[in-house]
This record gives sequence, C-alpha cells and structure tokens, in this order.
Amino acid sequence: RTVYVNGEYLPETEATVSIFDRGFLFADAVYEVTSVLDGKLIDFEGHAVRLERSLNELDMQAPCTKEELLEIHRKLVELNGIEEGLIYLQVSRGSDGDRDFVFPSEDTKPTLVLFTQNKPGLANSSAAQKGAKVISIEDIRWGRRDIKTVQLLYPSMGKMMAKAAGADDAWMIEDGYVTEGTSNNAYYVKDGVIVTRPLSNDILHGITRKAVLRLAEEAQMKIEERLFTIDEAKEADEAFTTSASAFVMPVVEVDGVALGDGTPGPIAKRLREIYLEESRAQAI
Ligand code: PMP
Repeated sequence: RTVYVNGEYLPETEATVSIFDRGFLFADAVYEVTSVLDGKLIDFEGHAVRLERSLNELDMQAPCTKEELLEIHRKLVELNGIEEGLIYLQVSRGSDGDRDFVFPSEDTKPTLVLFTQNKPGLANSSAAQKGAKVISIEDIRWGRRDIKTVQLLYPSMGKMMAKAAGADDAWMIEDGYVTEGTSNNAYYVKDGVIVTRPLSNDILHGITRKAVLRLAEEAQMKIEERLFTIDEAKEADEAFTTSASAFVMPVVEVDGVALGDGTPGPIAKRLREIYLEESRAQAI
C-alpha cells in the first residue's frame, strides 16, 4: 500500500511519524473517514468542511488547502487501485520534539497522514443484509463528541463489550438517553416515524446522518429529532445506524430484544438503497 505522510507518498513500511507527535502522546488529533465507491469519493465536501470545523474548535492549523486534500485523496485512490473502500485522514498537532502539556509554538507544523483501506463489497455487504445486533452501554466519553478526535479508546472498548455479549455494536446512553453508536449515529422507527437525537456537543455531526435525513425528507418520510431512550428503541418497529463506512446499517436487535420480525426493516433498507444510489451519482 502507498500511504501519504506530510507531503510524501511512500510505501506503508517507510512512512514515519515522530514518537513525540501529540497525536500519539495526547490523542491531540482529528480525523475523517471518506468512503470510495466506483473509484470515486463519497461526500468529500462534507468531510472537508467537518475537518475544518474540528481543527478550528481545537485551534489546530490546517495542514493544507481543501483542494490539496482532494488531490491527495484522489491520488491515493489511484495509486492503490481502490474501487470500493475507505480513506483515513488524520491531522495531529505535531510536536516540538518533546512531551509537554502546553501546545507547541504556532510555527509547529501539523502532521498529516492518509491511507486507504481496500474493501471490495463494501456497498453490497452481507452485514447489512443480516442487520446488526446492538447492546447498550453507559456513555462515559468527554463532552465534545462533536469534534472528531482520535480519542477512540472507549468506543473501541464498547465494540469489545458488544462482541463479548454476542452482538455487533453498542449504543451509548447518557442521562437515560441514547447518544449514538460507537462509530455511527443511531435511529429507530416506530409507526413510520424516524427518531434520532438532535445535533449538539453530545454527538458527532455525521456526514451520512445529514445526507440520510435530507433523503428521508425528500422521500416524504416523517422525522423527529429528539432525545430517546433505549426502551423506546427496544419497542421500535425497526432501527438503523448511519456512518460513512457502513452507510445505512439496519439494526435488528437491541439488548437481546428482536425488532419486528428480527430482519432489516423496510425503511432502513429503502434508505440504504436511496443513499447508495444518490451517493454514487454525486461521487467525485
Ligand atoms: N458517531 C460517531 C461516534 C462516529 O465515530 C461516526 C463515524 N466516524 C459517526 C457518528 C458517523 O459519522 P459519519 O456519518 O460522518 O461517518
């Protein structure tokens, strides 16, 4: 695989970052994951805009312009022959060559790393045909989940807890209400109404969420953005999650309770179809 690090395209075995990099020592870094279908980027603009916002919220310098980012994405897709897959991008604050809680001086360059993940069959996934089982866990993450930082230890532990329970993923709960999945936004459907938590600092402002809610509205589906409990989700007709890497993923079980007949619901399936179709058409 050819990867990108600070201006260079290199074999993955030759790409290096300082051990003092604040991304490594302090999780002082933000990231984006953009999917690739038919060799093209899905919603690059949305990811670029969110990256800019994450950087601003953390007073981190932009490593390059949006146009340069697009060029790097495209070049990596080409060099690695990606038809379906993901592009991971990470910007960290870099370092002055030592460990210090205080941010380095203004002229310290951020570290920019990108790599591709080849995922043939991403759009036609068997996981989506089966649907996901989720468990609920307490949300103990920090209070700025709207910033896409690389602090993913707890979400990672959440996935492990799900696995240990025989499930696929975990939905997190704070003050009695579902925030989001470990790496996706969460929705349930009851009597034809799609319910999802409104945007705030408590959840990531999903790029896929935005697109899917727009498409649902265009398809005359009813949407309620409000807080909801895990018990509501357990009594739902169906449920699903959205993320750039799994698109619309039907959820068929919540805390051991099967939703509907235990197979992916019609609204989740329809939204997945519409989302994939429109994304392919808009891909650049
Ligand atoms: N919430 C969390 C916690 C996530 O990690 C992600 C995916 N990175 C999402 C939601 C979905 O966001 P997007 O649709 O932009 O991938």
